[in-house]
Amino acid sequence: MARIELDGVRKTFDDAVALSEVSLTVEEGEFFTLVGPSGCGKTTTLRTIAGLSSPTEGTVRFDGEDVSDTPVEDRNVGVVFQSYALFPHMTVAENVRYGLRFTDPPRGLTVDERVEELLELVDLPGMGDREPDELSGGQQQRVALARALAPAPDVLLLDEPMSALDARLREQLRRAIKRIQQELDVTTVYVTHDQEEALAVSDRLAVMHGGGVEQVGTPVEVYERPETEFVASFVGENNVFSGPVTDREGDELAVEVEGETFHVDAGDADVAVGDSVTFCVRPVALDTDAGHNRFPVALGTTEYLGGTTRLYGEWAGREMVLRLPEPPDTDAITVGFDPADAIVL
Ligand code: ATP
Repeated sequence: MARIELDGVRKTFDDAVALSEVSLTVEEGEFFTLVGPSGCGKTTTLRTIAGLSSPTEGTVRFDGEDVSDTPVEDRNVGVVFQSYALFPHMTVAENVRYGLRFTDPPRGLTVDERVEELLELVDLPGMGDREPDELSGGQQQRVALARALAPAPDVLLLDEPMSALDARLREQLRRAIKRIQQELDVTTVYVTHDQEEALAVSDRLAVMHGGGVEQVGTPVEVYERPETEFVASFVGENNVFSGPVTDREGDELAVEVEGETFHVDAGDADVAVGDSVTFCVRPVALDTDAGHNRFPVALGTTEYLGGTTRLYGEWAGREMVLRLPEPPDTDAITVGFDPADAIVL
């Protein structure tokens, strides 16, 4: 297990900036996720932790020791990539054994004992003699995981390991990865562009955008208290409103947006009358029965999700997204929200 620190890491490729400034700490034994849209710098950050890419500026530390110039084979990291990357001409056991090419098996085990132990860990006991093409995609990724874990790495790095799998297999593999991570207590950094997945598996996550980190926190912190408009919109859906504060009474702000006055709880925001604020309201907080902050929404498409319905609509030329238990039988409804359900950014 290791504690990982990135301190002012910057990475450029010729004149392209992949990482503008990334500083973050991953605690020992933590499941930490880098999440963000395509091109935001997740893979470059992971490769920098692995030692597959060296920072143009800044420092990488493992347990306080500067490893910025330490090559991948000397960092004791296990890496699993997006594509299966198994050697097709080798059996499953040979693929796992490849993970032990730089290190002896731990705890005095023989190589064969270690390989079988790992295959059991990833739920593929006795499959060592199979060829990779006799396995499903999910099974192949389990073998890749077993290979990465073979040398008992201090750090496990996973780059979109499930992106080639269908939804059900993703969910299964996700649970397997989480179980194995908890069992081994290995410091893990996981890359995904899927915010739902990031919320589901992480102890903490970093939301990345444009080569930098927008916010770091637990899933609950990032979902319930987004600090920027980008995080509010990227992590879960959100309805974003901006306008001037026209009145403040205690913690309650009156904010004028498109000629409507909304009352919202200021939370921790330090704002006064005349300031411009942005606040957001989750789809589930918009309710047809709400007594406050009511406004009309012209409905567009609806998606039945089983037990709940997602509705897209429009208010004052802005797209709104709602979640209601059942689709309404009209295309114009009025919704409202409680002042406490607004998150002032
Ligand atoms: P994705 O989810 O699409 O994999 P990402 O968030 O992992 O994206 P990176 O792969 O880290 O993003 O890329 C960040 C930026 O750096 C992108 O604009 C990318 O084009 C650029 N980049 C990455 N690797 C290189 C390279 N070897 N040469 C030039 N530019 C690169």
